Amino acid sequence: MISRASVVIIGGGIVGTSIAFNLAKMGVKDISIFEKSYISSGSTGRCGGGIRQQWTSPMNVRLAMRSVEIFRNFKRDVGMDIEYYQGGYLLLANTDEEVIDFENNVKMQRDEGLDVEILTPRQIVERFPFINVEDVKMGTWCPTDGHANPQIANIAYAFALKRMGVDVNTHTTVEDIYVQNNQIIGVQTSKGYLKTNVVVNAAGGFSREVGVMGGVEIPTHSERHQILVTEGVNHILDPMVISFHNNYYVRQTMHGSLVMGQSDKNPVQGIDLGHTIEFLEEMAPKMVHDFPFMKHLHIVRQWSGAYNVSPDAQPIIGESRDVSRYLFAVGFSGHGFMLAPAVGEAVAEMIVYGSSKTVDISNLSIERFKKKIKRERNVV
Ligand SMILES: Cc1cc2nc3c(=O)[nH]c(=O)nc-3n(C[C@H](O)[C@H](O)[C@H](O)COP(=O)(O)OP(=O)(O)OC[C@H]3O[C@@H](n4cnc5c(N)ncnc54)[C@H](O)[C@@H]3O)c2cc1C
Repeated sequence: MISRASVVIIGGGIVGTSIAFNLAKMGVKDISIFEKSYISSGSTGRCGGGIRQQWTSPMNVRLAMRSVEIFRNFKRDVGMDIEYYQGGYLLLANTDEEVIDFENNVKMQRDEGLDVEILTPRQIVERFPFINVEDVKMGTWCPTDGHANPQIANIAYAFALKRMGVDVNTHTTVEDIYVQNNQIIGVQTSKGYLKTNVVVNAAGGFSREVGVMGGVEIPTHSERHQILVTEGVNHILDPMVISFHNNYYVRQTMHGSLVMGQSDKNPVQGIDLGHTIEFLEEMAPKMVHDFPFMKHLHIVRQWSGAYNVSPDAQPIIGESRDVSRYLFAVGFSGHGFMLAPAVGEAVAEMIVYGSSKTVDISNLSIERFKKKIKRERNVV
């Protein structure tokens, strides 16, 4: 651990490591990143790995589109194969309201430059004969969506950081942030004190608590989301499929196993990594109904992780008005993995140039909650 850092990043998940990677790439020296456990121990290592550009908020579409550009060259630029697969993403509409919503979303997404198609149930079956469309009214399909292995992606960034000379500290907790006259002067960690004037809160499920350390109130909360993986079978499910009405997402990994999850009806609040039999009892019948080939599949394992949720289910990214150079990139709900490459770039630009350049993310600032907000609806 170094004794003085130009930037301290709290959290070694995909968001923190992506920010550090982009800062190092831009030539910033003496960056320190702190992870209280191991790399990918947080939500990143527990997530579904979906990479989707079909959102209801233009900001999420833009960030996801930029992330896809980065994911495409991830192996070349970050140095590891992360099982990135552009098999597309199929969104299923099951109600008349969803049909209207989806049509409006597609219009906006196309305006943003996204290649996205509307499919009738018949067209869905022609392309994806393994889906039972008896309850489906229409679908939207984006061929450049896909998925990757989130754990490997997180570790790939961390390995790159070490090669680039970043001070990477695992099993080291940031315990306090010292502020004098609205300026950060240092952080206390479980392994000692470090001087710095710039802190980035990328603490995922602990974003609110890390905010409190610097005297910054961050309106996020964490809730438990469960997920499971089956045995591996021959490749069948090219796209990732999601139904908001039936409350599920599913993808097939490169090794053949199927990864799927839902939102619990009353998600447990806070950090709770337990899981329930009810989750399996709810998932199994609806998945077998929509994907009859799953009838004889064995479930191998289930687990859970935290969604860190903001009031409009969109990330909160920016700098505190009260504490100078206290930045945060938090509140990603169920879409932080897919947005992280573009978010890392944007936060690094904020630190180096004073504002984001490649994608203007100024409207994700914490100040937006003073006005009327619009909730991102395409979430499970
Ligand atoms: C079941 C599930 C499925 C999901 N599916 C998807 C999906 O398909 N696609 C997608 O894009 N997203 C998905 N997500 C969301 C995604 O996992 C998160 O949005 C993303 O991983 C957030 O990354 P992060 O780096 O902010 O958080 P994390 O990965 O949680 O990293 C934050 C890190 O900060 C560390 N930390 C906290 N406090 C301190 C401290 N004081 N000192 C040092 N370290 C600290 C934690 O230990 C943690 O490792 C899913 C999430 C879950 C739970």
